[in-house]
Amino acid sequence: MNWLERFLLPPHCQLCGATADQDELCASCATDVHVIDTGCPLCALPNDDHSICAECAKQPPHWQAAQSCFVYDGAIMQLMRRWKYGKHSSAERLLCEAFAGWIEATEFTTQATAIIAVPMHPHKLRKRGFNAAYQLARSASRLLKLPLLEQALKRDHLTDSQAGLDKAARQQNLLGAFSVNEQALKGHQQILLIDDVYTTGATAQSCSQLLTRAGATHLHLLTLARALPPKSNTLPLTS
Ligand SMILES: [Zn+2]
Ligand SMILES: [Zn+2]
Repeated sequence: MNWLERFLLPPHCQLCGATADQDELCASCATDVHVIDTGCPLCALPNDDHSICAECAKQPPHWQAAQSCFVYDGAIMQLMRRWKYGKHSSAERLLCEAFAGWIEATEFTTQATAIIAVPMHPHKLRKRGFNAAYQLARSASRLLKLPLLEQALKRDHLTDSQAGLDKAARQQNLLGAFSVNEQALKGHQQILLIDDVYTTGATAQSCSQLLTRAGATHLHLLTLARALPPKSNTLPLTS
């Protein structure tokens, strides 16, 4: 919203259009935002005791820690779609501010010495104009005073749409999609890997596998939102 629009139109809720402060969410839409208070330390699946979930106990991921700010549903899912597919700068501002605020409020700590954003293929990046994971990684880099290694991980191949694929098929689809630039990674073995959405974890798994092979010893995955597996419906959530 530019100064003239702001002058002529009162601020409104980004999702339903009701009057709201500074183009944020109205009270009603805000109730549809689910913050993850506690979750599995390996995949951020919400729970009430920080215990390792059955899935991670059975097959631990290639990273050593994972956290996510929101559940990927309701208002957050709508805002993220507006940001990524509709290029709404007001949604971007709101989500990046929420991510930064969460890092500050939780007094987030990590043993990482550098940050890497899950990359997009250059063709897709040109088409969309930005990488949401990179935008989030940039604000984390500023806040945590950690370097953002922009060249360390590259997406070399376009994968078919991941929608509708199960976990095994996604993993297969992603094999070979990424590559590591060992020179750019040099000196950093503990990495904070940032992505916008954790869906099945397959993308982050591929990245982590490659980073581990390249010498990373500790990977901490941080995402703005985490999708719930289709069958989970009795998870304790707040706000
Ligand atoms: Zn609203
Ligand atoms: Zn887990």
